[in-house]
Amino acid sequence: MLHDAGLFLALVNPAIALLLALCFLFAWHHERTRPHLLQVGACYLLAAAAIGLQVLWPPRAGGGTATVTGALYLGSAVLLLRGMLARIGARPDRCVAMALPLALFGMVSWFDLVHPSLVARIYILNVGVALILLAGVAPLARLRTGRTVDRVLFWVYLVFALQFLPRTLLALAPAAVHDAAVLPPTAYWLWLQATLALLLLALGLALLAATAQDVIDDLRHERDTDALTQLHTRRSLETLAARLIPPRPGESLSVLLCDLDFFKFINDNYGHSAGDAVLTQVGRVIAAGIRRRDIAARLGGEEFVVLLPDTPHDAALQLAERLRQTLEQTSMDVLPGMGNVTASFGVATLRPGEDLEALLMRADNVLYAAKNNGRNCVEWEREAGLPALV
Ligand code: GH3
Ligand code: MG
Ligand code: MG
Repeated sequence: MLHDAGLFLALVNPAIALLLALCFLFAWHHERTRPHLLQVGACYLLAAAAIGLQVLWPPRAGGGTATVTGALYLGSAVLLLRGMLARIGARPDRCVAMALPLALFGMVSWFDLVHPSLVARIYILNVGVALILLAGVAPLARLRTGRTVDRVLFWVYLVFALQFLPRTLLALAPAAVHDAAVLPPTAYWLWLQATLALLLLALGLALLAATAQDVIDDLRHERDTDALTQLHTRRSLETLAARLIPPRPGESLSVLLCDLDFFKFINDNYGHSAGDAVLTQVGRVIAAGIRRRDIAARLGGEEFVVLLPDTPHDAALQLAERLRQTLEQTSMDVLPGMGNVTASFGVATLRPGEDLEALLMRADNVLYAAKNNGRNCVEWEREAGLPALV
């Protein structure tokens, strides 16, 4: 008979698993693009059912309960593996996800229905679940170098997977004492169950935290990325520029502004969506032509800006000229028969005490001059005595 504390513990365990299942399924309901939430939700649901069944319907020799709970535990382990891997865009090996659990299930059923043996079942289930989960450790190892939530998740998962091995021996102790194929709900057994529930809780919370961080990061990326060109938005440019201004002593910060020539003509003659496709391709040309640390953004419309850290004026002019030539020579996929798209460029270099807005305003003024000079050219502030284009 379970005493009160034992009964409480026994009910808390499946309740925790059920609560986590509901959390994951609720999260999945709102984030259908993240299938790992459904898989892990189902994993916790099966675990809750397995733990609950073991408490409410203790296994009798050959009674079939162990076969049912065995299937639930194995299914739960496979779903956890699949969910953990799905989150990082990976899939488990078919052998581990199908053949191994089926073989283990066959063995558990054999030692329940045909030749009842609690000891054999304890070995098979614990070592089996550990093997299934450990198959995910190698692909998940990349989490170790990720964000803090990813690192925590990796280590909690590893500990969770590994603890099934010592758990085999711990579970065998009472099983050896009671040679009947029935594991009585002793305090020891309940303690074993409680540690499992605690670990399930730690893993579930780590996974929920990592998923919340995923959602936040994705929203941040969406906010900071221009959908058409995949370059930065103006807002993102301003945030990043705040870290670069003022530049370190001895370093110059330059900017180039770029405005497509006669873009209205493209929209009017080929349609707005062709115009959009041109902007996308121009975005790719710019992204491919700059360094990793340069920050390219679309300011809106057909105007682009590239912020160039540690770049003196003459180097910025050379880059602008190179981009101008590349653009001129790039055939636009969506504009058959038309001459290629060209752009006008304005280049400026940050002056002491200046902010981004003032710098962009000066670049805009020289861009205006480039338009007046006939377009498809690079302009800069000549009166400032800066070196000319070489
Ligand atoms: P200029 O050489 O003087 O720059 O001439 P332009 O025709 O490029 O300049 P203008 O500023 O008159 O026209 C810009 C056009 O860009 C007008 C607007 O309809 C179009 N445009 C602005 N944003 C977008 C966009 O997101 N997609 C598309 N397809 N067109 C856009
Ligand atoms: Mg234009
Ligand atoms: Mg414009």
